[in-house]
Amino acid sequence: MSVQVVAAKMAEVELKDINSKILPAAMPVVQKQEEKSAVKSQTAVPSTSPAVSAAAKVAAAPEEPTLPTPSPNLMKMPQASVLKRTEPQHNGGEAFINPDGTVTEAPKTVKKQIQFADQKQEFNKRTTKIGRRSLSRSISQSSTDSYSSAASYTDSSDDETSPRDKQQKNSKGNGDFCIKNIKQADFGRREIEIAEQEMPALMALRKRAQGEKPLAGAKIVGCTHITAQTAVLMETLAALGAQCRWAACNIYSTQNEVAAALAEGGFAVFAWKGESEDDFWWCIDRCVNVEGWQPNMILDDGGDLTHWIYKKYPNMFKKIKGIVEESVTGVHRLYQLSKAGKLCVPAMNVNDSVTKQKFDNLYCCRESILDGLKRTTDVMFGGKQVVVCGYGEVGKGCSAALKAMGSIVYVTEIDPICALQACMDGFRLVKLNEVIRQVDIVITCTGNKNVVVREYLDRMKNGCIVCNMGHSNTEIDVASLRTPELTWERVRSQVDHVIWPDGKRIVLLAEGRLLNLSCSTVPTFVLSITATTQALALIELYNAPEGRYKQDVYLLPKKMDEYVASLHLPTFDAHLTELTDEQAKYLGLNKNGPFKPNYYR
Ligand code: NAD
Repeated sequence: MSVQVVAAKMAEVELKDINSKILPAAMPVVQKQEEKSAVKSQTAVPSTSPAVSAAAKVAAAPEEPTLPTPSPNLMKMPQASVLKRTEPQHNGGEAFINPDGTVTEAPKTVKKQIQFADQKQEFNKRTTKIGRRSLSRSISQSSTDSYSSAASYTDSSDDETSPRDKQQKNSKGNGDFCIKNIKQADFGRREIEIAEQEMPALMALRKRAQGEKPLAGAKIVGCTHITAQTAVLMETLAALGAQCRWAACNIYSTQNEVAAALAEGGFAVFAWKGESEDDFWWCIDRCVNVEGWQPNMILDDGGDLTHWIYKKYPNMFKKIKGIVEESVTGVHRLYQLSKAGKLCVPAMNVNDSVTKQKFDNLYCCRESILDGLKRTTDVMFGGKQVVVCGYGEVGKGCSAALKAMGSIVYVTEIDPICALQACMDGFRLVKLNEVIRQVDIVITCTGNKNVVVREYLDRMKNGCIVCNMGHSNTEIDVASLRTPELTWERVRSQVDHVIWPDGKRIVLLAEGRLLNLSCSTVPTFVLSITATTQALALIELYNAPEGRYKQDVYLLPKKMDEYVASLHLPTFDAHLTELTDEQAKYLGLNKNGPFKPNYYR
């Protein structure tokens, strides 16, 4: 059996197994000691064994009764679907023509050009510490558009020495990393273990791939948020056979203690919370510019790593088999490269996977909106009047959460379909100017610009809380508040009071940036879904036979989306219905899926 069918095997789920086995409710997956040590020693080397499918071992894991078993029908590899771009649509977004001729809309929000920090190369000419911080965020595009990560609780303020000026080694004498403080490793390990409890699919992949390693020989360079959840992903990739080197895609989101735990486990991690922009690129460079090691896979979140390699080490693409990209911005950059005929390798667009859109945008926001508001303002939600601008996935999540807490929720929309959904979900559809004087909280979720402009800010009542859950800081016209007659008072981290001459103040959160990314954490279980999709995309690209994927941008096959979802079902003791032969024939479906067409969203 060839290694090329590994991913197919993983995706060929006998969903009936979910029903037929006794499923524990929300059972935490406890990692065995041997597995831990295997994962900790980050020295996975390419397997010399024949390319026997790991999934064969996976299937023969009788001690793991809680998960669906891959079907013996392994040969029909579902290919990822390539998306082609059309001209921009009326809404400012773009659309894809799927292979079957249907059209899928692309994210509407990304208009940024590929930026590249050529000028940031001279790493040794570093600015002062204050200078570094003040420069932060201006270069990396990735910082604000990826939601699969949480703000860190890490306090990095006690030790002011730059990690770049420190010589650190882990307990095994390995110094191939650059993090804040290796002594925090034990604390970080506990954080990772907590995250493991809520990431059942990754833990299942680890167990199933024991022995056979679908990523044996993979050298993955990653640039994502470095949090406990990412650590679970990285350790899973290592357990599947990969070697990893990693940098952060966001200068603020690294959990220092987690980075320490990873470094202690042997991972080459280059990241700390509060990097300067110069540090940011230096860390990325340290991941790729290393003697005797060249990546053959890229896992990116925002496209900065991809473009660094693209610009500085284009020859590396000769060995790179593929790119997996998570964020709206990164995917947009890949399409730009593809359109310009400059994409050198196949790329997987994880951002547009159903398993990301349907879960990350909706459920992540439904849970984190309350957390973000509560942590920053201690506001009570019951009886408060809230207006949610935009009733897409994010707006739906926010509105549902606030309604459940007893808030009176108004919704604004431009699209009659989403507007009708809001009405039928029991929300009052209004124009912003109709309610702006009376509401206590304003939340933007449109991905658009200038939704809340100065005129509305002027008319808000005293104490009104204003925040944004959309892509970037364009939704609230924050710049219009930087005028001499208004006073800004920083009352807490990420909380500003903007005070009018008559004493009225509004409470502006995270300066109009993404509230949940800036001020709260996001649910690990949701991240598990996205991380599993990333892992499968890596396995698929790494194992795909020559010619299956061209130099283009692809979506994961629907069957793999379904597989990711099925791996998470046992947590809920969910009993999935199996199609009868008659029903399958009637619907024209294979009993084992895929159950929806590729364009289904
Ligand atoms: P979406 O396209 O499904 O929803 C946006 C909605 O806003 C649409 O229905 C659109 O008609 C509406 N809209 C546009 N302009 C408007 C205006 N001026 N007034 C009122 N409504 C308007 O997108 P989504 O998945 O809900 O994502 C929304 C934004 O949130 C995007 O920028 C996305 O990148 C971001 N996002 C944030 C998180 C997070 O964790 N905070 C997670 C995922 C996505």
